[in-house]
Amino acid sequence: MLDQIDPKRLHATVEALAKWNTRNTNTPELTQAAEWIASEYRKIPGMQVEIWHYTIPKGRRVPEEKQVVEVIAKLQGEDDRLVMVGGHMDSINLSADIFSGRAPGANDDASGTALALELARVMSTKKWKHSLMFIAFSGEEQGLNGSQALAKRAKDENWQIEAFLNNDMVSNTTNDLGKKDDSHVRVFSEESDKHQSRELARFIEWVCRGKVKSPDGKTPFEIKLVLRKDRFGRGGDHSPFNDQGFNAVRFVEVEEAYTRQHTPNDLPEFSDPKYHACIAKMNLLAMSALAQAGTQPSDVLIKRDQSHHTTISWHKTDGVKYMVYWRDTASAVWQGSKEVGEADHAVIENVNKDDHMFAVGAMGGIPVPAK
Ligand SMILES: [Zn+2]
Repeated sequence: MLDQIDPKRLHATVEALAKWNTRNTNTPELTQAAEWIASEYRKIPGMQVEIWHYTIPKGRRVPEEKQVVEVIAKLQGEDDRLVMVGGHMDSINLSADIFSGRAPGANDDASGTALALELARVMSTKKWKHSLMFIAFSGEEQGLNGSQALAKRAKDENWQIEAFLNNDMVSNTTNDLGKKDDSHVRVFSEESDKHQSRELARFIEWVCRGKVKSPDGKTPFEIKLVLRKDRFGRGGDHSPFNDQGFNAVRFVEVEEAYTRQHTPNDLPEFSDPKYHACIAKMNLLAMSALAQAGTQPSDVLIKRDQSHHTTISWHKTDGVKYMVYWRDTASAVWQGSKEVGEADHAVIENVNKDDHMFAVGAMGGIPVPAK
């Protein structure tokens, strides 16, 4: 399935979106771009497509409160649990008039919008246990308005969101100093008692590890976890979902070209389609696992004995297979894992509970930390 991700098709979407003079949320061009994106989703068999209207409030970059649109495309699975991916289709020019200034927004964030569309095309060729949702947000550049509105709707309508993967700037490989990195992508996540975003990020790193090659065809393509909710002082569309208690993370390139962001110079020629495809593959690996995951275990407990082995027990669901994970307390990523089948307990030999963190997950699901 990874081979179905097509760098040329990804890049063609970026080029198509960058042709509008701007995709500023306040302009008619944003509506035109949304209609074009919706028409692309409607070409995909089985896709339910909604152009959703919400109200963006008057603000610093919004002269008057108004109705604007964003695109929601859904593939119904066997059940209503949702695995979501998206990016923001809107762009902005902060170096000239923000409404009329040229804002191609190729990397920020036609790249994330294109990635979600590409995943929809590829994932529509298979049946999934959970439902899949693909989003093109608007209002991001005005203050995350579109994601705030949708996260609130999700909460109000009691959507069962397993995970939301936000992709915002995922095609650029070089920074302003000429430094290049095309073999990593950053995943930002928030640590909180209200959701499991950090555990989602760790799971994504684990499930993608060793599975994708960098554009050179040799170097492993790797996830760099960043243990904060977003880049310093900056925001993204995953955060309003975090705030509503949903599991959500942000994918973003490693090297940013700050001088091109929000300028007429955020052009498709600075996007690397092969790098873009690597990040799409990471999203596909994570979504594919999450979309098939069984019910998560509950009451995941470590036995309080003085043994060199670690015994873990949990409340299981019949027919669900489980995986036990462990890592050194100082490691951000899982270092060991063991499939244990339909068990409700496991003994991990010679890994001590004093120096390690443990978790148990249904196969493909976000691991639940053991207490
Ligand atoms: Zn952005």
